[in-house]
Parts: sequence; C-alpha cells; structure tokens
Amino acid sequence: MKLKDMNLFRQQAFISGQWVDASSKRTLTVNNPADDTRIGTVPALDAAQIKQAIQSAHEAFLLWREYTPLERGNILRRWQALIEENSDDIAAIMTTEQGKPLTEAKGEIAGGNSYIGWFAEEGRRLYGEIIPSPWPGKQPLTMKQPIGVTAAITPWNFPMSMITRKAAPALAAGCTMLIKPASKTPFSALALVELASRAGVPAGVLSVITGDSSVIGTELCNSDIVRKISFTGSTAVGKRLIAACAGTVKKVSMELGGNAPFIICPDADIDLAVDGTLKSKFRNAGQTCICANRIIVHESIHDTYVARLAEHVREIKVGNGMDAGVTQGPLIDRKAKESMEDFIADALSKGACLAAGGKASDLGGLYFEPTVLTGITTQMRVFREEIFGPICPVITYNEEKEAVALANDTEYGLASYVFTKDIGSFYRIASALEYGLVGVNEVGLATGEVPFGGVKESGLGREGGRQGIEDYVETKYILLGNLH
Ligand code: NAP
Repeated sequence: MKLKDMNLFRQQAFISGQWVDASSKRTLTVNNPADDTRIGTVPALDAAQIKQAIQSAHEAFLLWREYTPLERGNILRRWQALIEENSDDIAAIMTTEQGKPLTEAKGEIAGGNSYIGWFAEEGRRLYGEIIPSPWPGKQPLTMKQPIGVTAAITPWNFPMSMITRKAAPALAAGCTMLIKPASKTPFSALALVELASRAGVPAGVLSVITGDSSVIGTELCNSDIVRKISFTGSTAVGKRLIAACAGTVKKVSMELGGNAPFIICPDADIDLAVDGTLKSKFRNAGQTCICANRIIVHESIHDTYVARLAEHVREIKVGNGMDAGVTQGPLIDRKAKESMEDFIADALSKGACLAAGGKASDLGGLYFEPTVLTGITTQMRVFREEIFGPICPVITYNEEKEAVALANDTEYGLASYVFTKDIGSFYRIASALEYGLVGVNEVGLATGEVPFGGVKESGLGREGGRQGIEDYVETKYILLGNLH
C-alpha cells in the first residue's frame, strides 16, 4: 500500500493517547479481499487491557465534559479538515482492506465526514428547557448532560462512516468513546484515530481497541463504567448485545440488518428506476444494509424494466477496487461468496430464472458476477433474507396493496424505496411502509443532516440529524423550590 503519509497506516491499538500492542503479543491478521494478500496485523488485546482502556476513557470523560461545546466543536472541525486533507490515503487504506472501488471509498469518506461537521455544530445546540411551572414559587428546568463513557462496535462494510456517525455525536455531546472496529477492516479506524489525535482530541477521549469480538464485547457489555453501546452490524449479534447490556441497564443504539423493498409503480420513470436499482443494489458489491434487496415491480412494466436492468448489469466492471474503471470489487470473504451461490441455487431450484450473471466471476478469488433473478416468490431465501451481495431478485405485483404487503412481509424495517410519478401512490405507499427510511425516486439517503435508522428488527435509535446526538445525553430535571 503506497500512502502519502505512511503514519496513517497503524498496526497497533490506540488507548489513552498511546499506540499499544497486546500484552500477550498475539495479533490478528488482516488480508486484502482483492487478492488475499496479507496487509498487516492488529493486536488481540486481552480483558485486562480492555478494562484499562475503559478506565482511561472514564478519566478522560471527567476532563472532556468540562470543555465548552464550542471548544469540542472546534476540535471536531479540525478532525474533519484533516480527514478531508488525507482522504486519498484513507481511501487507499479502505479499498485495500475492504475491497470497494476507490471512488466509492472516497464517497464514503465525504459522507462520513459530513457527520463530523454536522455534530460539531449540533453539540452547541443541546438546549435544556425552562418549563412553565404549574406551581407557584417553583421553577422546573432541564439540562442535557453527556452520558459518560460510550462504546462503538462497527462492521466491515463501511469502515469509516459507521464510526464517524457514532464518534462525532458522542464527542460533541461531551462523552468519550471506545471504538471496536470490525476485525476485517481495522486500519481505516486506526487512521481516523491518528487524525483525531493530531486534531487535538485529548488522550483517552477516543480509543480504538482491537481483538477478539467476544472478549471485547463481554468487557464492554459487563462494565458499569460504559454507559452506552452503539452497535452497527447483524441483527443476530445485535440481539446478543442487547441481552448482554441488560445486566448493567446500558443504553443501546442498534443499526442492524435490512431487507429493503424497491417498489416500482406502473407509472414510474423506468430509466430512473433502473438507475436507482444499479446504485442501490450494486454499491459496495451489494454489501450495504440499505441495498435494495427485493425489487417489487408492477407486472405491466416488468419485461421492459428487466431487459434494461440486465443490459446495464452486464456492463458493471468487476475487478480490484484500486483499478481505474472498476465499479464492483470483490466480496469480503469466502463465506460471502458461498452464500451467494447458495442463494442462487435455492432460487433456481424453486423456479427462478437468471436474467444476468449467476455465478462466481471468471476472475476467480472473491469476485462474483452481478446477478439478476426473475420469477421470485416469497418462499425463496432471496426474498426472506438479507442477501448482502450482488444479487438482484425481481418479483411482480398487480395491486398496490399487494406491493405494500410484500414489502412489509419481513422482520426487517430499515430502508425502502418507491419509484412513482403519482403523488397519491407516493403518499399512500410511503405512509404504509413499515420502515425507518423511505426513498422516493431516490436512493442516496444518508448524510449528516438526516435521521438514519430502522424499525422492527432493523434497530433502535437514529444516527445523524438533530436526533443523532440525543442518544449521547441524559435529560436532567431540576426543580427550583421556595422561590417566594
Ligand atoms: P457482524 O458480524 O454483526 O459484526 C459487526 C461487528 O460486531 C464487528 O465489529 C464484529 O467483530 C462485532 N461482533 C461480532 N460478534 C460480536 C460479539 N459477540 N460481541 C461483540 N461484538 C461482536 O456484522 P458484519 O458482518 O460486520 O456487518 C454486516 C451486517 O451489518 C449486515 O447485517 C448489515 O445489514 C449490518 N449493517 C447495518 C447498518 C445499519 O445502519 N443499520 C449499516 C451497516 C451494516 P469482528 O469483526 O471481530 O467479528
């Protein structure tokens, strides 16, 4: 990996402002999914080191909460500026460890940075209230206070933005944070924390702890110092963490899996819908929580839509994300590739047809052909489960109510999409969808300014928007009495 600043490539954990190795010297190896070469290692910290990191985050909290919101905001803005200045290097690190095309990595960095800029300002607007009193001589009021030491556990699919969505509101509110990045993509997180330190984030305020997820998860969940855990990842792990946090009655935020419906109404602009499908379904090789997972298209336009979509899908250039022109990188690991093969075999055995792709790419390794499947039914696994790969299943509907019923027929409720020109359809469908996010004729949903999050088994809480900082504060009620 060639970087302009090689100091951004760190192979140690960052605790209390220091770069540290594991006490045991044990490491975890990180490979490049594009060619399976070894990129480097990170320490496998032990329980005692995690405890130490939590303690230092607590000590740092006592100082950090005394900074004014303006001072904290200024530091965050410096962090944002440094990330922007170093975005070529961070993108190179991200593509090397995660596989996404370099242009997508840069897009993620710009999007992720929007959260830092937004929360640098929102921290200054954490207003309390002077409540009109129902009692003579008494005055109730509220103030918002940081909740304390927090922890973030993040996935590999967005190695940078899933961190900034959590760290920026936490730090802006006056909390400190321990970040446990995905073991497949720790180097983006380590570059971020190096830049945070250069920006003036004090020692212990933002730490990155690496190692076995079960060891770290147990320490974070059981600690009575850690007051909140914000998790982004699979619903299965999220449920385990919610249960584990019950013992200390910790606040939790959960950004979990999705099974996004993508409804295309009979009056929709078909080219716009095809473009939206390509951007939503195949971004990050289909490995995003808000990827279109089920295309629900009106039967009258199905054939035209599928023909146009398949034509464009065949033009997707699969390859190493570092190579110019590549629009789809490798999958994250062998398990993901096998999972795609299983999804396709299941659908074909139940009567689905292939309109494009359908197998591992001739390039070998972890590359997979962008695939379109038609003739989907609700019994197929591609309808019921989060695919998390470049397979686009298409199912038809006849009545609008049927489209909504199909869309809501899942335990998930993160992102959903509707393509229509009719204001009545838009309003009826968008209102009836049991989802936290609805894109109407648009698929690019996330940015610092808006509340992002799911309902049902897709999660708890919102990230971004004015709501995104609320999870990092407690509202304290104070009553002033005997004022006569
Ligand atoms: P994952 O397997 O749940 O892992 C996510 C994180 O949790 C990783 O850091 C992982 O560590 C850690 N982890 C795993 N088991 C743990 C345990 N027992 N205790 C504590 N931490 C544990 O998910 P993933 O495969 O990385 O990510 C894909 C999933 O994330 C998909 O379901 C996707 O939909 C979801 N996602 C949701 C959103 C959203 O905003 N709703 C955004 C992005 C992704 P290791 O890496 O060390 O295993």
